[in-house]
Amino acid sequence: MEFKNLPPVKDQLMKCVRCGKCRSVCPVFSEIKNETAAPRGHVFMVQMLRDGKIEPTSDVYERLSRCLMCETCSVNCPSGIDVHELNAAARSYIYDNNPNIGKELIFDTMWTRPGLLKTTSFFMWGAQKTGLQKLARNLGLTKLLPGDLPQAEKILSEVPLHSARAQLPLVNEAKGEQKYTVGYFLGCATDLFNPEVARATINVLTHNGCKVVIPRDLKCCGQPHVANGKMDTARKLMAHNIKIFGSYNFDYIITDCASCSAALSRKNMEFLFKGLKIEDEAMAFSDLVMDLTQFLIDVIDVKIPEAVITEPRVRVTYHDPCHLANAQGVKTQPRELLKRIPDVEYVEMADANSCCGGSGTYSLTHYEMSMKILDHKMDHAMETGADYVATCCPSCSMQLRHGIARHNWNARVVHPVELLNAYYNNMPDAK
Ligand code: SF4
Ligand code: SF4
Repeated sequence: MEFKNLPPVKDQLMKCVRCGKCRSVCPVFSEIKNETAAPRGHVFMVQMLRDGKIEPTSDVYERLSRCLMCETCSVNCPSGIDVHELNAAARSYIYDNNPNIGKELIFDTMWTRPGLLKTTSFFMWGAQKTGLQKLARNLGLTKLLPGDLPQAEKILSEVPLHSARAQLPLVNEAKGEQKYTVGYFLGCATDLFNPEVARATINVLTHNGCKVVIPRDLKCCGQPHVANGKMDTARKLMAHNIKIFGSYNFDYIITDCASCSAALSRKNMEFLFKGLKIEDEAMAFSDLVMDLTQFLIDVIDVKIPEAVITEPRVRVTYHDPCHLANAQGVKTQPRELLKRIPDVEYVEMADANSCCGGSGTYSLTHYEMSMKILDHKMDHAMETGADYVATCCPSCSMQLRHGIARHNWNARVVHPVELLNAYYNNMPDAK
């Protein structure tokens, strides 16, 4: 579809009344204080691109790519403009006019092939285990990496040898009476970097009467592609996943990754597929998708017996992933789930819904800005004195772990489902 005919470009540009409300909430603008970094400035740039008043150059891409895609501006815009979608559409348009071999390799060759992604993570594991990564750092070889990667490679968490997919069976039967058949959308980051979250998800779902199927030939949700100017590739990935899930008959499709559920949401389907042949199929697929914490609270209404309470309770705070809170409005369910775990003492941090600066690949491409935003987040998190920072997004988790290391703080980052799973495992009947 042509750039000027994409839904947000066609329908929303004229709605901007230049009120500046978006500017006052944008974490990047609050650091840069320059109109070209403000959401309103991005809307204006997209309008000029559409009208041919500026050329789709790499320089314009660079300016637009300073945006985190956190959607804070979009949820606060009184005119209902999806500023982040305008930005993503413009990035794709510009990228198509300035293709680049590095990006093709990463986003079209590697990130569309789960086998290649797995091989890459295996090499990363090897580099970490053999000390090669440390050696390369000490020898200054990481400085040869492109862009901000020399600094940003430190953010990468420890890579496990075995992916979640390699550890978990295709079908996981419900424990006790079966209530639902659930398809688990196991995202790349959870699969390759956080298999313990996937194991906890399966245990908690099966414990609560769900038969859980993990389709094997799933591909990336396409979220990193949309953020990096590769909308066409995102469409292909999504169309593939829709077909895979369409061959099952699930009651729900559940994911523990905020970025995946945002990518699979109705809103994103409209953005990618509105007016295309696959639109209805995409919407029907999307209607089955739900975030794990939302499912556990709103559908299962999980009840947790006070079987064992370890004293003192663990102090837990929660960070809202933008892709969950802003993109999907899911804020109460993760907190409610944490509060229902008997050995958790929940403490809210200030500005819990402000971005952590991770935003998928942003911390890898804009390290300095990402760290400024992260440091604000860490100030608020550390004020709580929590033992655990819970969050529902692997990218936020990685960023927060980096923040904890950066500030020498003695806390751990977990997904809420890991705490619930640990509690279940400590219950007497689990032994
Ligand atoms: S808040 Fe919305 S209407 Fe106001 S300047 Fe920003 S994009 Fe335009
Ligand atoms: S999506 Fe976030 S970072 Fe981007 S312009 Fe909007 S508020 Fe700023």
